[in-house]
Amino acid sequence: MALAHARARVLRLIVGRPDQARALTPEEYDALARSECFVCAIVAGRHRPNTQVVYEDEDVIVFLNHFPTQDSYSLVCPKRHAERFEQDLSRSEWLHLQEVVQRVAAAVAEATPAIRMYLASLGSPERNAHLHVHVCPCPAGTPFERQQFEAMRRRDGLHHEADPDRQREVAQRIRAALEQPSIGDAHLLMRPIVEAEREWLAEKLQERWGSTSIVSRGVLHDAAALPALVCVRGTERVGMATFALADRACELVTLDAFERGRGVGSALLAAVVAAARGDGASRLWLITTNDNLDALRFYQRRGFRLGAVNRGAVDAARRLKPRSASAWTLRRQSWPAKTSTWTFSRRSPPATAMATR
Ligand SMILES: [Zn+2]
Repeated sequence: MALAHARARVLRLIVGRPDQARALTPEEYDALARSECFVCAIVAGRHRPNTQVVYEDEDVIVFLNHFPTQDSYSLVCPKRHAERFEQDLSRSEWLHLQEVVQRVAAAVAEATPAIRMYLASLGSPERNAHLHVHVCPCPAGTPFERQQFEAMRRRDGLHHEADPDRQREVAQRIRAALEQPSIGDAHLLMRPIVEAEREWLAEKLQERWGSTSIVSRGVLHDAAALPALVCVRGTERVGMATFALADRACELVTLDAFERGRGVGSALLAAVVAAARGDGASRLWLITTNDNLDALRFYQRRGFRLGAVNRGAVDAARRLKPRSASAWTLRRQSWPAKTSTWTFSRRSPPATAMATR
């Protein structure tokens, strides 16, 4: 009898009445939270009434909290049923989820507008176990005592359903903000490459350098296998750098910005310097051809100075690198006289050197 009663109550809560905002008692909410996984249900299209999905890709879904303490309060979830971010998600799944979190937070901040964005991963093994990241805004004008944890707390203990009209309007604002290509892009995210991206790195090197083999000072690098940093803007990879560490020196082997004039190259260079310092290197150096004037300007402006010129280095490099790849590189970048190497160094630590190939 009691079981039938509970089932009927859960059914009523799930089906609900679409046009009416109401409040659930703690017991009602508990029964709901212990029923079907609320995220898997939405992913499968079995929406609770008043569900507003604001973003979706292959792996991640974002929808508005059904019981928000603030307008625009969103939940960012992996689509597959994972419960623990620290053990159930691969590194690349976690990083992608975070990319979406940052983008959605930027859209929510704009839609609200917010003076601060709060993040939390809650849930428990018994209730709401599916991993979901709370993205909660602190709207402008919130008094200090209503900020931080208070912004997310239910003051009367009830779960108030959002007003459907309000929720629809808020969802539209967030979707519109997410459509701006620059949303969440104020900051470039720099991160080490994950193993699953090695194939992508090899393809990009092939596309941009004509080969994954890079020759410098008589050494043939397989750049696709080197330590690498990836620069991400929003959810898109916009640059990459590969480097090699030896004898307390770091060689910057490749640096690629897929978009020009937007700070990607500078940010990658700074990140490589930081990574090299972290690994105990006291010097950063790189080689480029003597005719690559863009590169000469780029590195000189960032404190590098010429250290040495190695004449004939290009011919030596050609002996190590397959001729076809080398010729392709020459043609593609229109290098008319690739004959020498120059070395630069920078005064401020770490001392840096640059040579042109
Ligand atoms: Zn689930």
